[in-house]
Amino acid sequence: MDKIKEFLKNKIFLKYFIYSIYILATVGVLFTLLRQPDIRNFFSTIENKTFDVRQNILAPYKKVNKNIVILSVDEESYEYLLEKYGEWPISRSIYADIIKYLEKQKPAVVAFDLMFVKSIKSSNDADNKLAKNIAQYDNVFTSINFDDQSFDLRKPVNLPDNIKAKVINDSNINFLNGNLKFTNCRAIINQILYTTPNIGHINLMRGEDGIARDIPPFVVYKNDYYPHLALKVALKYLEQTEGLEQNEFKIDKNANLTIGTKTIPLTGNGSVILNWYGPSGVNNSSGFEYIPMWKVEKTMYEGMNLIPQNYFKDKIVYIGTSATSLFDLKSVPTDRIFPGVEIHTTFVNNIIDNNFIKRVHPLTDIVISLLLSLFIGLIVIRSESTILSSIIAIFTSIIYAIVATILMYFFNIWVGIILQFVSILLIFIACYLAKYIVKSRDLEYTYALATTDGLTELYNHRYFQEQMIQNIETSKRYNKPFSLIMIDIDFFKKFNDKYGHQSGDAVLRQVANILKKNVRSSDIVCRYGGEEMSIILTQTGHEEALVTAQKICNAVSEHPLKLVNGNDVSVTISLGVSTFPMNGETPADMIKYADDCLYKAKEHGRNQVGNLAKD
Ligand code: GH3
Ligand code: MG
Ligand code: MG
Repeated sequence: MDKIKEFLKNKIFLKYFIYSIYILATVGVLFTLLRQPDIRNFFSTIENKTFDVRQNILAPYKKVNKNIVILSVDEESYEYLLEKYGEWPISRSIYADIIKYLEKQKPAVVAFDLMFVKSIKSSNDADNKLAKNIAQYDNVFTSINFDDQSFDLRKPVNLPDNIKAKVINDSNINFLNGNLKFTNCRAIINQILYTTPNIGHINLMRGEDGIARDIPPFVVYKNDYYPHLALKVALKYLEQTEGLEQNEFKIDKNANLTIGTKTIPLTGNGSVILNWYGPSGVNNSSGFEYIPMWKVEKTMYEGMNLIPQNYFKDKIVYIGTSATSLFDLKSVPTDRIFPGVEIHTTFVNNIIDNNFIKRVHPLTDIVISLLLSLFIGLIVIRSESTILSSIIAIFTSIIYAIVATILMYFFNIWVGIILQFVSILLIFIACYLAKYIVKSRDLEYTYALATTDGLTELYNHRYFQEQMIQNIETSKRYNKPFSLIMIDIDFFKKFNDKYGHQSGDAVLRQVANILKKNVRSSDIVCRYGGEEMSIILTQTGHEEALVTAQKICNAVSEHPLKLVNGNDVSVTISLGVSTFPMNGETPADMIKYADDCLYKAKEHGRNQVGNLAKD
């Protein structure tokens, strides 16, 4: 028991105990908060923003594949085509001609990010011609789209087997019931739907903030998997460049999708996180190559040479719209208005270069947060300088953010930033609070040391002097007296000589205790020096002080005191009393008056309260 008490008294232990409690409490609070779905969502929304910032910083340093080109109905082409043909959409016979035109140059792939659905304007002849041209080439691809429209509006169609994907899913991703399952389908015209297997979906995911960061390689419709158009396009390209042949997809238990020799990390929702190459290439040279549709049209029909010879050879030609008026624009991390078609080329490019972003496991983020915040906690605890520890905390955060950005650039790894920042901040604050508390305990201890006498545990001489000044001021302000008793033990030199200094000390302590017991708690008992003691009686007049002095004198003389050998002895004391302002208006005057009285007591035979007035 005593050992435990001693252990608890150990200041270093107590200090680290307080720090540990604060750190544990902070970690506990943080984890409790993170268990709330709303708060987790809030965190992940901000974390997504940090992803966007990192992607924006890194985009200019990433290079797109120059074999991918976007054949785009941009603003100028839209205006030109509308003017020339007087309608939008334009006749599908033009798209049929574009296929013919492109195929002459032997492109790797031609992909339409356009939906050839039934429309009032479509003519059977043009539709048949387009379907025939698509079917004629095995490298032409087109798109389909899934949704959850009401069955009253549109009856879900049956889709041909050859556009389905065979997916072997060993992961926890729930495709069949998750958010990638759709109940309805916006199908395309039968002429195309049933004549080519080269059809992929163009569905898109958006974050809670409406920004598209990830894209689903597969969606499920009527319990069948359908691959994304970009996935099919990339596979076709890899078939030609790397001889890849793949007709089923494996997702392993770690949610990695295998494409040839590439391993593509899927998120828990079954999508991939795209790695963005830059703001839209429409107005920006760092992005994908754009060829406006009007140039192709004029080259095809008007014999103009607006496009270099064999420009499309071996290229992936993605056909889509980028005109603002055509509304196929989304917000992505690197751009607020980004054409849908360029999202698809980004997806294709990510597959070819195998540079998707991999979000680390939540546990990794937690471990990093703990390590970082413990480091900062230690700095705060150990460092004497507030400025230094703040600077270290800020620098650590900045360096961590830079490291996180570098990891994303070189390894395509997305480590969290927000959880780390928040834990650093919270631990910083918690450790400061803990430090403040530890310090205030230290101050109390130091204060006690500075004001107490070690032997008697009475207040020391310095404190006595301070209190004299204090009491004189208070008495002046409230116009009330206070008194001072000076005490000296009788024949103490002899006592020491007879019983030894050890016993002298013991008796000194016991006398001190008797004094404390015989005054009010508001009175201040001090060791004046040697075997002399003094008591400040706050708000006490002279008569009352004399009574107290006599009471103390009796108490000491009547109280048996113990020597170190256990024997009982008794001592007597002599006392002198002075009162403010009657007997002196400064501490020195008051002490002198009381001392003079004390001297009188000695003169008159000791063991009494001295009185100057008697003579
Ligand atoms: P008197 O009745 O005239 O006061 O006789 P006295 O012997 O007490 O004379 P004085 O007050 O001058 O003596 C002080 C003595 O008190 C000297 C010293 O031996 C003893 N003394 C002072 N401080 C201590 C202390 O801390 N411990 C012990 N054991 N003795 C002390
Ligand atoms: Mg003395
Ligand atoms: Mg004495």
